[in-house]
Amino acid sequence: MNTMDSTPPDHAQTARPYYLACGNEERLFKAAYRQGLSILLKGPTGCGKTRFVEAMAHELGRPLITVSCHDDLTTADLVGRYLLNDGRTTWCDGPLTKAVRDGAICYLDEVVEARQDTTVVLHPLADHRRQLPIERLGVTLDAAPGFCLVVSYNPGYQSVLKDLKDSTRQRMVAIEFGYPPADAEERIVAAESGVDPKTAADFVRLAQAIRRLETGGLREVASTRVLIAAGRLVAEGLTPVEAAKAAVVGPLTDDVQVGAGLRKMIDLYL
Ligand code: ADP
Repeated sequence: MNTMDSTPPDHAQTARPYYLACGNEERLFKAAYRQGLSILLKGPTGCGKTRFVEAMAHELGRPLITVSCHDDLTTADLVGRYLLNDGRTTWCDGPLTKAVRDGAICYLDEVVEARQDTTVVLHPLADHRRQLPIERLGVTLDAAPGFCLVVSYNPGYQSVLKDLKDSTRQRMVAIEFGYPPADAEERIVAAESGVDPKTAADFVRLAQAIRRLETGGLREVASTRVLIAAGRLVAEGLTPVEAAKAAVVGPLTDDVQVGAGLRKMIDLYL
């Protein structure tokens, strides 16, 4: 699915999305933004990258256009295409073109999922030219002031085929994300799910123990996102053990033995 959404540019009317900084990421992002540099967010799924971009767009007062990349995403999905409308063909801007015209922040989430040819169109945008060539229209657009290209990817999913090309990477400023430190993650889980601080702290200790496993059979470890989901179940009246089994173990593995091991850890930590 290709999602395209713009937050309203009038950020004064809306609250800043809750984001707890864990390092110098906010200063880095704003500095890169002011310098017109493209930004690469590296980190595992569910560690706060999307929320971070939402908070930065709000603070910088720019609209945000988010594209969730997938392996069927084509250049036309990003740039635009002619559509048949009442017997006439009309050009319809894709999310990237819209962001270039509007001076929005364009966030390509999980960009390595996209087909290799889509990254070609990003090159002249990502470097000092800040231009988007639209072959089908025979035009090259200059990015409006305020435009910023932000891409994220999860280094854990890296494969030789899907890796970002070096020439693309070298055009970007990288900000590295990990799971937040324990005290910050406890505050985030409590704030986002509404559980009490003790339950939030227990969930975080459990997640840290799972993260220390040498990923025995796990594709992903427990993210901040799954802890928040567990917290939400607790807020609905489930016990922490029930919540963790459903929101942490279930999504992480289908393997019977690995699942049994994780459930034992839950009994130990909760
Ligand atoms: P990613 O884009 O890295 O996959 P998200 O930004 O969707 O992850 O993060 C998942 C959830 O975790 C967010 O919806 C948010 O509730 C929470 N979260 C993670 N890190 C933070 C943080 N530093 N401050 C506030 N919320 C956070």
